[in-house]
Amino acid sequence: MTATANQRFANLHIWPTILLAAGVLAYSAFHVSFGQITIPFLLLTLVAISAGARLSLKIPNVKGQISLTEFFIFLALFLFAGEGAVLLAAVATVCSSLRHNEKKATLLFNSAVTVASTFISVHLLRLNFGLLSELPLGAHTASLLLALFFVALVRSLTHSAVLAISEEIGLSFWQAWSASVTWTFFTYFTLAAAAGLAARLASIIGLYPSISGMAVIAIVYFAYTSLKKPEPLAEQNNELLRHLNVLQQSEQLFRSAFNYSAVGMALVSAKGRWLQVNRSLCELLGYSEEDLLATDFQRLIHHEDLGAALANIKRLLKGKIHTCQMEQRYLHRQGHIVWVLCGVSLVRNVETDAAHLIFQIQDITDRKRAEERLLHDAFHDALTGLPNRALFIDHLKLTIARAKRNKGQIYAVLFLDLDRFKIINDSLGHMIGDQLLVGIARRLESCLRPGDTVARVGGDEFTIVLEDLQEETEAIVVAERIQKELTVPFILGGREVFTTVSIGIAPSSTGYEEPEEILRDADTAMYRAKSLGKARHEVFDKAMHAFAMNLLQLETDMRRALDRQEFFVQYQPIVSLDTFKLRGFEALVRWRHPERGMISPLDFIPVAEETGQIIQIGHWVLKKACHQMRRWQRRFPSDPPLFISVNLSSRQFTQPDLIGQVKGVLDETKLDPRSLKLEITESAVMENIETATEMLKQLRALGVQLAIDDFGTGYSSLSYLHKFPIDTLKIDRSFVIRIVDNNENIEIVRTIVMLAQNLGMDVVAEGVETNDQLALLRKLDCENGQGYFFSKPTDVSGAEKIISDTYTESRAASNVYPAKARPTLVA
Ligand code: C2E
Ligand code: MG
Ligand code: MG
Repeated sequence: MTATANQRFANLHIWPTILLAAGVLAYSAFHVSFGQITIPFLLLTLVAISAGARLSLKIPNVKGQISLTEFFIFLALFLFAGEGAVLLAAVATVCSSLRHNEKKATLLFNSAVTVASTFISVHLLRLNFGLLSELPLGAHTASLLLALFFVALVRSLTHSAVLAISEEIGLSFWQAWSASVTWTFFTYFTLAAAAGLAARLASIIGLYPSISGMAVIAIVYFAYTSLKKPEPLAEQNNELLRHLNVLQQSEQLFRSAFNYSAVGMALVSAKGRWLQVNRSLCELLGYSEEDLLATDFQRLIHHEDLGAALANIKRLLKGKIHTCQMEQRYLHRQGHIVWVLCGVSLVRNVETDAAHLIFQIQDITDRKRAEERLLHDAFHDALTGLPNRALFIDHLKLTIARAKRNKGQIYAVLFLDLDRFKIINDSLGHMIGDQLLVGIARRLESCLRPGDTVARVGGDEFTIVLEDLQEETEAIVVAERIQKELTVPFILGGREVFTTVSIGIAPSSTGYEEPEEILRDADTAMYRAKSLGKARHEVFDKAMHAFAMNLLQLETDMRRALDRQEFFVQYQPIVSLDTFKLRGFEALVRWRHPERGMISPLDFIPVAEETGQIIQIGHWVLKKACHQMRRWQRRFPSDPPLFISVNLSSRQFTQPDLIGQVKGVLDETKLDPRSLKLEITESAVMENIETATEMLKQLRALGVQLAIDDFGTGYSSLSYLHKFPIDTLKIDRSFVIRIVDNNENIEIVRTIVMLAQNLGMDVVAEGVETNDQLALLRKLDCENGQGYFFSKPTDVSGAEKIISDTYTESRAASNVYPAKARPTLVA
């Protein structure tokens, strides 16, 4: 039971107790014999009323006192039969309470408790010892001690129970009761023992002398104490008046400071009742003074802050602290929350010594709101309002911990990446890009259940954690739902925008300890989904992890490969299909890995692209190839001179200082810019048409030639082609390989050749392997060819052999491909 519960408990028992005592009193009055109402009894009652109420005994270590009336009740109990003691108890406690100006209910209740417990004591003693009046003299000392023990026990139990139910704040009934009962017992025992002694004395020297003796002692005592009080002198009176004046002034000062303070102030009872409140507090909480005074602070404070507030106030009341400050929420009359900084200190009422609290309450709502905003911003994405990576990781941590506790709980993480978001952003502008992200965030939210979390963790990356799944396959269902939901176009800036998303799914079954691990795997699965053609989802498995680890290793090894000279360049000839003249070479990079052997550029170039290492590798290849071609041109001069084709990856193509780099290499190697042909894939150009066109123009301005590699695959650049300053189209190998038995491919090649001719470009057919392919390509007027039919990519000496085989000093102008390699021409 808490303090307020104690109060309710007391209210509940007050009237039954009074009724019970009234019954007991009536019973005792009925059973009292007139022989008991003797003059000594009346005298004793008189002494009890007049002296007992004036004096009281402090109970050690307990907040409470015992009136000396109790001594006379005990005495009556030993001297006159029990009923007399009950009557004396009733009369004496009523008079004592009246003297202390107690409230009517308190007066009745306290008297009732004393009467009832005296009645119990009387009957308890009678049950054990028979006639009470024989106790003091007749009984053994042991019996007397036992009797004293019983009397003290009954009274102390009831007295400490009364103390406990009037406990003001914090302690439960049982805590308060057990804290006071021991010392209360000892005090009562002392009083009972004194009464026992007095009774024994009375039985020796007689009743009259003893009571008269007591009356004399009381009179002497009161005379002495009144003598001790110095006579109020005029001077002292003046001094007192002066003090009173000063006090009044400072009281007035305090009162106006209290009333007009900008801070809310209140005087609060130990039970939490508002006793005095100032205007600021009324404004702060939206109540009138009257309304506030009719309630208590417990009712207005937010229930979540009540516990801490009560605990602090309890410590204050117990004197463990002198003051305390708390940030709390109060409920405004209109229902909203007001954040306050509440300082509480303790004061004591001078007259009653009752503990009161002074509350100083300052409105800190604005500061709190700002703090909440900051906290929110720190954990949310400003654009979409979704949780950010930090908050997502936090959620995920909790999910992992929960799943560890409840074995069998399944969850999954989804990693989403928009497909081609960059293109939308670049072509439609960042405003539309932002609106798209917001739209996607809302659609993702609509696809999830309330317990699931969706976050934005990067530009166009979102993550989702799905909790409490029945089966892992549910995650796939959600992924499909998301993909379906995104097939509906977004209407942004008056136009329809379509987007797709690649999703990686990492289910919890793999057994994760850290959020980063499951996120990493979901990310890996997302990459797999992208590489398998985008707009799809993939579930993570162990093989993917091995693959990813392998890539990671490759990446690490690649960092050292340049320094350790593990890269080298091979050259593949490009030949005129009409004259079989050698036109030039394509430089192709190779990696000789110390443990893994030869690694195909198809495997390591994409990794190098991603990590950015392609910039250094590409630069190195460019320099190496240009050097080589310059050397060959010096050794084997021809007209037109041989050219060197060098591949540029899209990452290289978008680096801002590409022009400077190419120019630097040309200057350094002294190669004629016209002898360098840079190959760029169609997709690299199409990913960012504007800047690509600009870049191509600048490269062209340097004088280098430009080719579109793998033409015909990926993006269709047909409608843009005329805008680009391009010299050569390289028809992708996939068309050439099946040119012989596939009419459609023949048509594609024919179209590309015609297109190139119309635009003033030349054409190189890649991957020419067979005689038939060569013959058909010649028939289609394809100018140049490159492929295993002529030569596989070869090292420097192999390439030199090809050049020297086709080169004759006398016919320096026409280094024709060796006759043995010439195809049998189809008529
Ligand atoms: P690519 O630029 O289209 O190069 C032609 C690829 O086709 C080369 O593969 C070459 O060996 C292969 N090839 C040539 N003729 C034939 C043939 O008749 N049959 C068959 N089956 N294949 C033939 P490689 O060397 O494996 O290079 C693959 C790709 O790697 C290249 O395709 C290019 O995109 C890239 N790459 C190679 N070297 C570099 C480089 O130095 N920088 C950059 N950025 N990319 C490079
Ligand atoms: Mg190429
Ligand atoms: Mg190619």
